[in-house]
Amino acid sequence: MRRHDQTTPMSDCSLLEIRGLNLDFGTPRGRVHALRNVSLDVPAGRVVGIVGESGSGKSTLAYTVMGLLPENAEVTDGSILFEGRDLLTLSSQARRGLMGDRLSMIFQDPMTALNPVRTIENQMIDIQHHEQRSRSDKRARAIDMLKRVGIPDPQSRITNHPHQFSGGMRQRICIAMALLVKPALLIADEPTTALDATLEVQIIHLLKDLQREIGCSILFVSHHLGVVAELCDHVAVMYAGEVVEQGAVRDIFHNPAHPYTRALLECDPGRIRQRTRNLPTIPGEVPSLLGNKKGCIFRPRCPHAFDRCVQETPVVYSVGADQVARCHLLDRPRMVAA
Ligand code: ATP
Ligand code: SF4
Ligand code: MG
Repeated sequence: MRRHDQTTPMSDCSLLEIRGLNLDFGTPRGRVHALRNVSLDVPAGRVVGIVGESGSGKSTLAYTVMGLLPENAEVTDGSILFEGRDLLTLSSQARRGLMGDRLSMIFQDPMTALNPVRTIENQMIDIQHHEQRSRSDKRARAIDMLKRVGIPDPQSRITNHPHQFSGGMRQRICIAMALLVKPALLIADEPTTALDATLEVQIIHLLKDLQREIGCSILFVSHHLGVVAELCDHVAVMYAGEVVEQGAVRDIFHNPAHPYTRALLECDPGRIRQRTRNLPTIPGEVPSLLGNKKGCIFRPRCPHAFDRCVQETPVVYSVGADQVARCHLLDRPRMVAA
């Protein structure tokens, strides 16, 4: 296996390039190292999924790109290049200029993005504030987008308030609002997790159609591996604040190289053909992120751990043309030599 200096496999013509990102949360118990040396690319016009167990840092990564971090968060190292500019060093005014124009976000709970006391019409017109168009033109575009996302009778429903819609409809409205501005990058943090399975499938197909039509990129956070396989071109697997493996969806799903990715795939209900009362889970618990860690972070749960995993943090190795993973097992020539 080839040792990789560049910690991501897809660095050509990237819209978003995250390099060596480290982030801590200050807590009364000490510093929580929530992102550790994260590198990830989102190429233009592609959909990149982020998967991993609860607490692995998926939302923290998404919110860091959006600049929506709580006060106790501190980026200690790294860069986030978006269209060639480092988002971490931009002035707050320049960053606000990008939000809702080049960058938009869909949240798990649609009410995070919608204002309960304003009509959908006013909110959809306001979000187009970057556009030099008349109000009636903006209203017509909003109605058209509501139609595209499947809101029935959008001409009259646009005058309603958010509470007059069901949860699934509200999520469709959020997608309409996020895409109305034709962003270059849409960040979606578990946008379908609160919906039932049928609605989830509908929303995923809708996102896919609109992404192709608009030509934007999507960074899509999900617990649901089936949804990621359906929607995404690339996938990054996160564990305890690290990206442990990333690559093309077909490679990661058919030829996972990291023991954690393999364990995650084995636990995916979509892959389990036998009917069973208890779904399998990965043995052991996600480790505490407090304090400095030595060796491989997955070691306490890894069935393949060996001496080197205790002492040394694995670097990133190329597995194939479009796949990289952080595991000492991939350093085969060195193991033979040792
Ligand atoms: P989930 O799948 O449950 O949404 P996640 O992968 O999105 O999980 P994050 O919410 O990013 O995980 O959390 C990553 C780690 O950072 C967790 O250990 C979490 O407890 C911690 N964390 C998140 N926000 C804060 C905060 N404001 N202060 C302290 N620790 C935090
Ligand atoms: Fe397992 Fe060692 Fe690979 Fe970590 S480096 S995933 S402990 S074999
Ligand atoms: Mg989350």
